[in-house]
Amino acid sequence: MTAKILQILKEITSLFAYGKDNRQILSKIVTLLARRLDCEVCSIYAYDEKSDRLVLAASEGLNPKVIGKFTLAPSEGITGHAFTKNEILNVLDPQRDPRHVPASGSGEEKFNSMLSCPLVVGGRKYGVINLQSTASKRFGEDLVELIRSLSIQVANIIESSKLFGLLSVEPGRAGAAEQELPVEKVLKGSPANEGLAIGKVVFLDRSYDDMEIAQERHDSETKELVVLDKALAAAKKETSEMGERALSMISEADASIFSVHLLFLEDKSILDKVRGRISEGFTAEYSVKSTCDEYLAKFNKMSSEVFRGKSADLKDVMIHLLKEIKKAKGVLQEAGKNPPKGLKYIMAARELLPSDILRMPASNVSGYICERGGVTAHFAILARALDIPAMMGVADLSRIREGDNIILDCHAGNIYINPDAETEERFREVIRTRAGAGMESDAAEAFTRDGVRISVMANLSLLSELPLLKLSGADGVGLYRSEFMYMIRDYPPSEDSQLKIYSRICKACGKRPVTFRMLDAGSDKPLPYLNFTEEENPSMGVRGIRLLEGNEEIFRAQISAILRASVSSRARILIPMVSSLEQVRKVKSLVAEVSASLSAKGVEHNPAPEIGVMIEIPSIAFSLDRILPEIDFGSIGTNDLMQFFYASDRSNEKVFPHLSFHDPSFLGLLRQIGDAFSKAGRKLCVCGEMASDPLAIPLLLGAGVSELSLNNRAVSRTKRLIRGLSADAARSLLDECIGMDGAEQARSACRRLVGYWR
Ligand code: PEP
Ligand code: MG
Repeated sequence: MTAKILQILKEITSLFAYGKDNRQILSKIVTLLARRLDCEVCSIYAYDEKSDRLVLAASEGLNPKVIGKFTLAPSEGITGHAFTKNEILNVLDPQRDPRHVPASGSGEEKFNSMLSCPLVVGGRKYGVINLQSTASKRFGEDLVELIRSLSIQVANIIESSKLFGLLSVEPGRAGAAEQELPVEKVLKGSPANEGLAIGKVVFLDRSYDDMEIAQERHDSETKELVVLDKALAAAKKETSEMGERALSMISEADASIFSVHLLFLEDKSILDKVRGRISEGFTAEYSVKSTCDEYLAKFNKMSSEVFRGKSADLKDVMIHLLKEIKKAKGVLQEAGKNPPKGLKYIMAARELLPSDILRMPASNVSGYICERGGVTAHFAILARALDIPAMMGVADLSRIREGDNIILDCHAGNIYINPDAETEERFREVIRTRAGAGMESDAAEAFTRDGVRISVMANLSLLSELPLLKLSGADGVGLYRSEFMYMIRDYPPSEDSQLKIYSRICKACGKRPVTFRMLDAGSDKPLPYLNFTEEENPSMGVRGIRLLEGNEEIFRAQISAILRASVSSRARILIPMVSSLEQVRKVKSLVAEVSASLSAKGVEHNPAPEIGVMIEIPSIAFSLDRILPEIDFGSIGTNDLMQFFYASDRSNEKVFPHLSFHDPSFLGLLRQIGDAFSKAGRKLCVCGEMASDPLAIPLLLGAGVSELSLNNRAVSRTKRLIRGLSADAARSLLDECIGMDGAEQARSACRRLVGYWR
């Protein structure tokens, strides 16, 4: 999903960590840009306020001897004009341009075209970036657009890293050798969310069943009982703190999980049994483990699912208690699980599930790493919602040990194990300077060049994202993944607690539409309180709207909360995993029934929300004639649609590369869906991760998609991109790509139109 422009930015960001000095970093940036943009010359001029001059600070392609020496007044030369007028100049034959000032000794005479682009951050001008080429033609429009987007970001990065202080760099330091870590200390992964993090690694304890505790006898009952009491007190304190932290991090949470944990830690019958075993002569840890095993066996025999679900909680609590006992005995050294104030740890596991993320105190997690998972896995989606750097597909996870200090560089896809102090400090500096870097905002409507309005909305998973929604200028919420709210609890959220959450979203959106997706549980998002039976293939099992049967009350409460929350809002209800007309009719009649019952009780509500379907199961593309008359809109969930279309598990990093939306077969499916919606006059949205890939946008517009829903951070970039495209050209591009031999050709065609580089 990451476009080349992002790739370039990531590469630039990662240069900061390893460059020895500013001048060297700047020189690496120009080299990288020249290579990635395929230009013979790339130079950066930095504006020096003290001398009021533009200084040639770095160049790839010009004579290195003039770097740091050649300067211009801010109004001199093509470079100075671009700087003063704050505009991009694309000049053919610059030597003949009246504004030209020769940079003698630079070797620039042989270049026949020049592109000068100012580097501006928040209205403040920092310098100019120049591209030069021997080709006797102006730089293409694509490249101009690209450098425009890139310059803003590059200026941001450079500014926040204080790189323009380079003029004061002592010459002696320039050119110092770059320090590299030994390869065996660096692991590779695929970033699921961008960012940098530093912290001690803590492995997720999900392995109660693997814990081996020998049946050992103690030599002092009193000592053992003191250890138990100390461990219980520590576990209770930590559990209460975790509850508070979760509440402050995730507004959807309630204290239920943690209060259940506390109940176990205070349960008289459990504790009496444990103490009894200690009196019989067994160690505290064996007494706890054997008592817990006994309770688990009892729970598992009970017919009630709720009780069986409690096993997981009991295991959670006991793992915690056993660790505290070991700590009290000095067996276990503190490995970062309770980091000193202000420090955060990096959570690692073979596989991380959304519930793992939601149930842990995210406030002291600075990053996630795991072996399994693709970028559209729900774990990745949540990491983005919480804005926590995350890396997946880390093949050699076993080389990291609990307590290792690591740097997670999710720009470059690197994990550094126990780096030296200097390297760590360099990354810390980048983290400090990037912390204040804001998100671009764009609240204006986006029209294509030929006047087609495209609504760019945001995907929302947690209330903590609402401030971002306001900042990004999104045209509404195109997908609210309501299921995360259900996953934080041990029982379904009440209608009233849902009402509070939905009302906050509606209020934040004002007149902009809010798309509430009905509970989409199952697969990697199971709910302990729903009747899930063990399934061989849960992603193709009872999930999404298939759960309606047998759980109608849960859906009824959700619909009622949505209708009540959206009295003065444009609410839309989106049905997940639809495959039949009957499912749509069933939901519509449920909405009508709930509305009638609210009216009968005199409860104010929205009686007519728009109803739409998720297009995730390929067969629905062949039933649209029947379904379209029943609905107001559709939303393509490309994450699931692609996994089912290509029979490739979206959370399996091994097959993830096969999920290309550029393949002509998938594009043909898109065209078919788009045509059906256009013919029926219904709105078509795309809310899967495909919508946030710049190289997908022309194809989606070409298919007649009129709404996109994506991560808040991609909103402004997407609006900008749309404004540079024409719907007509996009249509032709899609047709052209459908007729191509493969994904690679189609991707190149998109790249040419969009001007983004991969
Ligand atoms: C999708 O399948 O594309 C989608 C948006 O839903 P989710 O990722 O939550 O399954
Ligand atoms: Mg889906």
